[in-house]
Amino acid sequence: MFNATFQCPDLTTFCRLDGLGLEVTGQYLRPDRAVLACRVTDPDQWCRKCGCQGVPRDTVTRQLGHEPFGWRPTTLLVSIRRDRCTGCGHVWRQDMSKAAEPRAKLSRRGLRWALEGIVCQHLTVARIAEGLGVTWNTANKAVLAEARRVLIEEPNRFDGVRVIGVDEHVWRHTRRGDKYVCESRIGWSGTGWREWFWLLIRGVTRSTCGPSISTMPSL
Ligand SMILES: [Zn+2]
Repeated sequence: MFNATFQCPDLTTFCRLDGLGLEVTGQYLRPDRAVLACRVTDPDQWCRKCGCQGVPRDTVTRQLGHEPFGWRPTTLLVSIRRDRCTGCGHVWRQDMSKAAEPRAKLSRRGLRWALEGIVCQHLTVARIAEGLGVTWNTANKAVLAEARRVLIEEPNRFDGVRVIGVDEHVWRHTRRGDKYVCESRIGWSGTGWREWFWLLIRGVTRSTCGPSISTMPSL
């Protein structure tokens, strides 16, 4: 039996956007996609060059793939205010680094969902891309970049490693005709999910090749 204290329904917290410094201002629901209009909650009104206060200039929007809820992708459409400094005229955008890396196409929650999906649930990159509502290349690039960021400079990544193994999948890539996509993973035993990130860095490769040719990344 639940002993929880119920609160008013709140889309921002339900979608875990409060931790990203975002607040939902609107929703657009389609059978195949949910789009949430958001704004950045943290004020960012002081000039980074001279320290004077800025005045609102305009807004720009940025689209981010977010973690899906159910089978429907959730996309964030974030309105970002641009301010102009009253002292030096410098123009800047609201800082939204809590929500996503600069120029990233996925929110931090979306990226975490992708990594956990691949590492813990053994989802394919194609399934991750479908869940996030982004292209295969976008999903793959984001996951590899994050894995590289998290682990490539981790000096102790092979601590406790006893066995290194290879798991490989080949399937027909129907959108591009009669070609095959090879995805190879290299992992090792006795390690946790952080170590599996490392296998993603060196192991997940993508190439179009004949059915008899496999991709074997080197350690
Ligand atoms: Zn200034």
